[in-house]
Amino acid sequence: MQRSEYTLLVSLNIMNIVQNLVFTLGLMITCFIAAYQVTVGQRRVGDFVALLTYMAQLQAPLNFFGTFYRSVQMAMINSERLLELFKERPTVVDEPNAQELPTCQGEVRFNDVKFSYDPRKPALNGLDFQCRPGTTTALVGESGGGKSTVFRLLFRFYNLGGGSIQIDGHDVKDITIDSLRRHVGVVPQDTVLFNETLMYNLKYARPSATDEEVHDACRAASIHEKILNFPDGYKTRVGERGLKLSGGEKQRVAIARTILKDPRIILLDEATAALDTETEQHIQLALDKLSQGRTTLVIAHRLSTITTADQILVLHAGKVAESGSHEDLLALKGRYASMWRKQIRAQQAAEQAKELSDKAERLRKEVRGDESASQSEDERNSGNERGRTARGPVRSGTDDDAGPSMPHGHPHGHP
Ligand code: ADP
Repeated sequence: MQRSEYTLLVSLNIMNIVQNLVFTLGLMITCFIAAYQVTVGQRRVGDFVALLTYMAQLQAPLNFFGTFYRSVQMAMINSERLLELFKERPTVVDEPNAQELPTCQGEVRFNDVKFSYDPRKPALNGLDFQCRPGTTTALVGESGGGKSTVFRLLFRFYNLGGGSIQIDGHDVKDITIDSLRRHVGVVPQDTVLFNETLMYNLKYARPSATDEEVHDACRAASIHEKILNFPDGYKTRVGERGLKLSGGEKQRVAIARTILKDPRIILLDEATAALDTETEQHIQLALDKLSQGRTTLVIAHRLSTITTADQILVLHAGKVAESGSHEDLLALKGRYASMWRKQIRAQQAAEQAKELSDKAERLRKEVRGDESASQSEDERNSGNERGRTARGPVRSGTDDDAGPSMPHGHPHGHP
């Protein structure tokens, strides 16, 4: 880019210099000829003045042609890009006889769904499951098992390779994409917000919503109080892609947005990033409220959050490897049980590590407390003994050296 810009600037400058040179030389030559003709009496002085005026008038349009050429070129490049965009065709379009889906109960059924991004490697390989209206289904399994693909297909980003997806008994192919998406809400792992106010971002889900409805949605997502604590409240600008909000806040904004949209089916991609316990509790509370009475599909990364789900599907290589409730799957002693054991072990290790670090912190504080106590005692003593007052500064933070009672500094220091 820098190299191209350099070439561009150099060529532009050369063009300007040459253009001016040609013009000035031309002007000079014609002036000489005209002056000569005036001196020999061939022309009158007025002709010379007229020539100068003509030349001055000609210079402006000639200069303009130089810049004009450049702007035409820029416009051509830009329009080329625009035309490329026009050529882009969506891969998924409505079938000619697709119907609107005016209301939705929220029953979702995957029938032997096959799909591949690349024909050589199937992503879903005969996926079969059903979610009853108002229930929560959790998708778990190793990375690459096809969990996100299920969401993408349900949201109709791609057409199926085989099998069918049904909503309330209608094949999604027979429903218009717009009306289907109106009934499906997504809470993504990483919420992208517009660089606008919070209110604008929240109303994006339903522009006709009133401020009061937005506040209610935020209350349900346990973010209302937090927003009111911001200096600009709902008028806070969230920054590029929402960078001024923390991960937990962004996710709760996404939840509030979905509550506002009020869809029957919710696709929830649980955040992988570890949040502090309190934020996590807030989010869990918000999610529980969100999923009440709605069909919810969750991609779960932490199994502890889905123990109460109505059904858990363990996806492996694009298929349901195991399914059932948390207890059923534990009793099965299969993949889920082993994942659960591993997570419990990891959790216990993390808890132990936290306990130990808390203990270390406590001990450190105690040592520091002893140190300052003994120092103040020393200081009291040194009030009588003038010669000892010049001990060094308070040595907090150096608790691993000679110990609190060691005299530090010059015993016979300055007063
Ligand atoms: P999960 O969400 O369970 O981690 P995905 O549904 O993202 O798994 O992926 C399933 C399979 O599809 C993986 O093998 C992955 O490599 C492949 N895949 C996912 N997205 C794409 C894509 N956009 N293009 C090509 N292959 C993809």
